[in-house]
Amino acid sequence: MSKLIYLDNNATTRVHPEAIKCMIPYMEKWYGNCSSSHGFGKKCKEYLNNSRYRLAKLLHVKPSELIFCSGATEANNNCLRGVYAYVKANKLLGQKKPHILISPIEHASIIKTAEDLHKRHGVCLEYLKVNSEGFIDLNDLFNKIRPTTILIAVMSENNEIGTRQKTKVLKKIGKLCKRKGIHFHCDATQTIGHRWFFPKDYNINSMSFSSHKFHGPRGIGVAFINSHNLLPCCSTGGSQEWGMRGGTENLAGIIGMTKALEISLTDLNKKRKKIRKMREYLRIELEKLIPGIIVNGPKNVIYVKDNTLSICLPGINSRKLLPMLDKYRICINIGSACSLGKRSHVLMACGLPIELEKGLLRISLSEYTTLKDCYYVAHILHKLYKQEKID
Ligand code: PMP
Repeated sequence: MSKLIYLDNNATTRVHPEAIKCMIPYMEKWYGNCSSSHGFGKKCKEYLNNSRYRLAKLLHVKPSELIFCSGATEANNNCLRGVYAYVKANKLLGQKKPHILISPIEHASIIKTAEDLHKRHGVCLEYLKVNSEGFIDLNDLFNKIRPTTILIAVMSENNEIGTRQKTKVLKKIGKLCKRKGIHFHCDATQTIGHRWFFPKDYNINSMSFSSHKFHGPRGIGVAFINSHNLLPCCSTGGSQEWGMRGGTENLAGIIGMTKALEISLTDLNKKRKKIRKMREYLRIELEKLIPGIIVNGPKNVIYVKDNTLSICLPGINSRKLLPMLDKYRICINIGSACSLGKRSHVLMACGLPIELEKGLLRISLSEYTTLKDCYYVAHILHKLYKQEKID
């Protein structure tokens, strides 16, 4: 059977063999409960804390600021709901309704949670403006802040079109939030493991990420929380993670995630350069081969997530294309794996017309991708385009 060409790395990644290897002893030998009081349990807790310490070092944060959880969806839920719960429990706004501001291109786990806070708890929810490339409009953000604003959520890099918010913009938001006492939440799921990113450089109060986006195991992730203005909301019950996230810790997952992050950040510049080169090769090749192709997201590649190429093929229905690509053992996705509805809310926010969105494809590379894979994919996409094009 021919090789599988996996280009859906923004959805999930292949687990690094070293990460798999280092997890095995924590299922076979060190299977104790980290919260047990006997020596065996305490030893397991020691391994867990060693991971926490190593992760904290990579992120320039304190170990006590990292809360292990099942992944970014849970972390986003916990942070957004937790900030609201704190304001309510402490009656900080009296009878006034808290106001939250989020970017319209956030992941479903931010948008749906914010909508739930609005529908069920009466929170005033307002969306920020983005331009056609997915960049936040800072003036719009400044104008939308109210005395009742309790939270602003802006992601670092977008999973669908790859927009990387500019460093100076994220820093300005962080500074402003700090000055005004607003909680700044950042979903950094598409950034951690792909770029050095230190939340404290941005005055970020809470941040989420998932291990499986950087060649670690699934079902494990982190909520960085650098704020006392947040109450545990989603997983109460146990006293694990300082009561912020109850439930027996996934020690093997934590060990695997830590290893995967360390590996991902090793020789990072070299890996990034290689991935960027392949992404550019693929973009140029497709633009040459397919007339009228649209590349979504920022035009300037320095503001695009290194591995992401989001395109729209004119006159093509990409839903019909996917099974054909399957036959060539090519995995490419349409938009996000966790989409909100039929249309991409990200492309809608960027103002892309519905006719063009029909031909949407998201190609996301990894360090396992080769230039040969990119050449093959460009050639197959061209072939299918010619075959399927509706004039
Ligand atoms: N945020 C972003 C930006 C993501 O890309 C994803 C995964 N698609 C998530 C959150 C959710 O991650 P998980 O499914 O691991 O909870």
